[in-house]
Amino acid sequence: MILSASAFPIPTTHPKSGHTYHLQTAGDKLYKPDRVFDGETLHEGWAVLVKGDKIEAVGPAASLRSEGAEVIDLKGTTLLPGLIEGHSHLLLHPYNETTWDDQVLKEPRSYRIARATVHARNTLLAGFTTVRDLGTEGADYDDVGLKQAINQGIIPGPRMIVATRALIATGSYAPKGFSPDIDVPQGAEEADGHDRLIQAVRRQIGKGADVIKVYADYRWGLMSEARPTFTLDELKLVVEVAHSSGRPTVAHATTAEGMRRAILAGCETVEHGDAGTPEIFALMKQHGTALCPTLAAGDATIQYRGWKKGTEPDPERIRNKKITFKQALDAGVKICFGGDVGVFAHGDNARELEMMVEYGMKPLDALRSATSGNAAVFHLTDRGRIRPGLLADLVAVEGDPTKTIGAIRKVRLVLKGGVNPKP
Ligand SMILES: [Zn+2]
Repeated sequence: MILSASAFPIPTTHPKSGHTYHLQTAGDKLYKPDRVFDGETLHEGWAVLVKGDKIEAVGPAASLRSEGAEVIDLKGTTLLPGLIEGHSHLLLHPYNETTWDDQVLKEPRSYRIARATVHARNTLLAGFTTVRDLGTEGADYDDVGLKQAINQGIIPGPRMIVATRALIATGSYAPKGFSPDIDVPQGAEEADGHDRLIQAVRRQIGKGADVIKVYADYRWGLMSEARPTFTLDELKLVVEVAHSSGRPTVAHATTAEGMRRAILAGCETVEHGDAGTPEIFALMKQHGTALCPTLAAGDATIQYRGWKKGTEPDPERIRNKKITFKQALDAGVKICFGGDVGVFAHGDNARELEMMVEYGMKPLDALRSATSGNAAVFHLTDRGRIRPGLLADLVAVEGDPTKTIGAIRKVRLVLKGGVNPKP
């Protein structure tokens, strides 16, 4: 089978002169790996033809025209769609380097942005060509400028979907534990009730948010346990206001009740979902809500607190997470690949893929989630698959990650819009 957008150069009319000419094919490149994972299925012996920033054709290597194209030999590799990170915080760095509180309260914004430019580069070079960045955690709208700098080619980085500040119910979030006599800056925007929530959503949209993130619960219970924050009506209002601008709402939720409200309100993804139950996962399945389980974040933070993974038994939180993740899989919930990277090192995004497999997913399903799956959940119709006409966001890794997921770390080549960011 050969899939091709156009077998021959397309005649194009020059906008000023009116002359018709044929687009140059000199820049075409034919990538020849051992196999292609197209976002859905693995194909041995396939190759991919790239023209400009788009995929021109994909199919068995022998069937693709190579005249006029530069042939790039990628022997020993698997070529995949550029990976789509579903939950990043480019403005955070690992909490074992600096606690989250200290990042929010003590680090200058200029310092955080300087770090974020390096995080963006490391993410792209690891093969993650798109990130859904879910909140600046106290750095206001700095994700908007970061995205702009990347889009203009000033710094290398992934394509970004940004949430800006994210929304929290007053008094629920963090940093907390300070004197009640002072107002401590928070890691997201406080807003409650009808008018203030509407304003906050619209303000974030106006300043550049592609997606609205709400915290449907947080650790503010009497015993510092996670408890729901916004009412169902408040969440519905956020979703309605965001939706009328064409933007999705996503919810941080770890408790069953927080998840339930987020699902019923129409949030499109639930982030974390630690204390989900079979009933809640059935509800997610019914409403088409995707789960972004962030397995790697919990794994990382518990190790920061001293757990020696591999030599000591799983702590209770890990045991529970494995159980609820399995329940979500059994219920047929759409799984969104997203590790909450930033809690652990940017560029180490593959950690979540490895954990999805460790916790019970097949490598092929984990890779589908990180490509075509996330593209569908995030409404990205121009990427996530290797198909003619889509963006030439591609990554070649040594070996076959559909057999051994760890191969995804052995990156040989990254292309973003047909361009190799590492000359
Ligand atoms: Zn997060």
